[in-house]
Amino acid sequence: MKKKILIVGGVAGGASAAARLRRNSEEDEIIMFEKGPHVSFSNCALPYHLSGLISEADKLVLMSPEKFMTQYKIEARVNNEVISIDRENKYVNVKNSETGDIYKETYDKLILSPGAKPIVPKISGIEKVNIFTIRNVVDIDKLNKYVKSIEARDIAVIGGGFIGVEAAENLKDAGYNVSLIEALDQVLKPFDYDMVQILHKEIYDKGVNLIVNDKVENFEEDKVVLASGKKINAKVVVMAIGVSPETGLAKEANLESGQTGAIKVDKNYKTNDDDIYAIGDAIEVYNALTHSMTKLSLAGPAQKAARAVADNINNKSTINKGYIGSSAIKVFDYNGASTGLNESLIKVLNMNINYDIVRVILTDKVGIMPTSAPMHFKLLYEVPTGKILGAQAIGKGDVTKRIDVIATAIKFGGTLEDLKDLELCYAPPFSTAKDVVNYAGYVGSNILNGDFKQVNVDKVRELVENNAYIVDVRERGEYANGYIKGSKNVPLSELRERTNEIPKDKPVYLHCRTGQRSYNAVLALQKLGFNNVYNITGSFLGLSLYEYFNDKTQNRESIVTEYNFR
Ligand code: FAD
Repeated sequence: MKKKILIVGGVAGGASAAARLRRNSEEDEIIMFEKGPHVSFSNCALPYHLSGLISEADKLVLMSPEKFMTQYKIEARVNNEVISIDRENKYVNVKNSETGDIYKETYDKLILSPGAKPIVPKISGIEKVNIFTIRNVVDIDKLNKYVKSIEARDIAVIGGGFIGVEAAENLKDAGYNVSLIEALDQVLKPFDYDMVQILHKEIYDKGVNLIVNDKVENFEEDKVVLASGKKINAKVVVMAIGVSPETGLAKEANLESGQTGAIKVDKNYKTNDDDIYAIGDAIEVYNALTHSMTKLSLAGPAQKAARAVADNINNKSTINKGYIGSSAIKVFDYNGASTGLNESLIKVLNMNINYDIVRVILTDKVGIMPTSAPMHFKLLYEVPTGKILGAQAIGKGDVTKRIDVIATAIKFGGTLEDLKDLELCYAPPFSTAKDVVNYAGYVGSNILNGDFKQVNVDKVRELVENNAYIVDVRERGEYANGYIKGSKNVPLSELRERTNEIPKDKPVYLHCRTGQRSYNAVLALQKLGFNNVYNITGSFLGLSLYEYFNDKTQNRESIVTEYNFR
């Protein structure tokens, strides 16, 4: 029987649902309402208009209402806002913002995909600065035109999430003086504190005034005043502190909200009304790893839910296994990607889970390839099962390939053993014959088997301050170019002859450049009767990257004589 299906919101979730609905049925009437002037634009590409990478704002719009009609027989009504839902009589009230007309549209099924709106808190003095947010093509066009029209060059971006970091990068690339202000001690929460320091360094080195651990207190004329008392010049302020789900319409219609405040749906994305579904940023979803409900503002999950709803409405069965959260970002010359759990999330949620980490640094391609660069990889696994819980990768190469493999492994319940066994594509321009993902499996299995012990780079400062016994097994020339203060140089090539210099009565912490040679040294020493030896994961390269940003911005004494980032 022919159905009439209405969709609220015409971008990621809404447009995907509409297209799938049409593929499922030629006869259904499908009407998609979008309160803005564009449907189906690339939200994710919006910041790249600021640098000119995407030269015209129009290029961000992927489909027009005309194309929806001619190609898919879907009516896409832009500038039409759904203002209320009458569940009893199954119709919505719609306001046409061009004509001011309000009209009714009946439905058999209604899909809500209204997204999430940028949070703009009521901070004192907010009227004294030019505030912008980034949600759609109109926003980015307005911001871009404004920054180009003014003479002052200073821009403050508030909030170090994905949108804030991408906006800061693209504005910097466009030549502005950019301050990026984050209240927490780090940007980009999908990365743990130890990993994100690599990105902090990159943002800092590229000339963005990155300020962490400081909150906006108030605004003055063209200035952002921080809790520390610092005043940041800003002719333009981009507010990117987060988004909140658009739940107004649903709440007014008495559709239930969940524990997070977002719209509550069942496993088929149905609300507490049998004929109303909700998807995308407006809903809360089940996190299959934390076993709790969460808000997940990502395009992939919105589009997958859209497909599931369209199938469900057409009586096709779907399975909802929950989400694990996979994301990626480019930060100037670096790429970062993450999936699943990270250490900070485990702590924040106070999860009762026994886990350990692997940190490896490997080249992303065969070392002799001209663009070969280190890839920093962190994996979390459950103890004692070895089940993969999450991973983060940062480097100049293809981090998403590695994290996608881990995301797939998590979805299939993979373990460290499975990672060892994976047969991944290899040729020198792409990766190494044993990829970093395989290595993570090897190293994790070794730790799990108790073959060696490790400490992470974030513990080294404390070790140095407590005069711990640190041995650098790099060769003499490498050591001379910079070393951990107080460390002793016993190159791996000399180690077996010089074991008498290494104490047995206290812990000994070994490192090299990336952790590989020191791992070999740890194993050798263990076999020679040393029971209290640790490998410093991340080693000198990881440590230099970990310490640098805080040393520079906090005027802190460095624990290394020279950093070495090569
Ligand atoms: P949206 O795509 O936002 O669509 C909702 C639409 O509904 C809006 O256009 C809104 O105007 C309309 N609407 C709301 N209420 C009504 C109403 N009452 N009547 C009619 N229309 C209404 N995700 C990633 O996975 N990767 C990325 O790299 C990434 N980058 C991003 C960069 C930016 C700048 C932004 C803003 C988002 C980014 N996202 C990214 C997030 C991703 O875009 C969202 O998760 C996704 O678009 C959510 O889909 P949605 O359908 O729920 O909402």
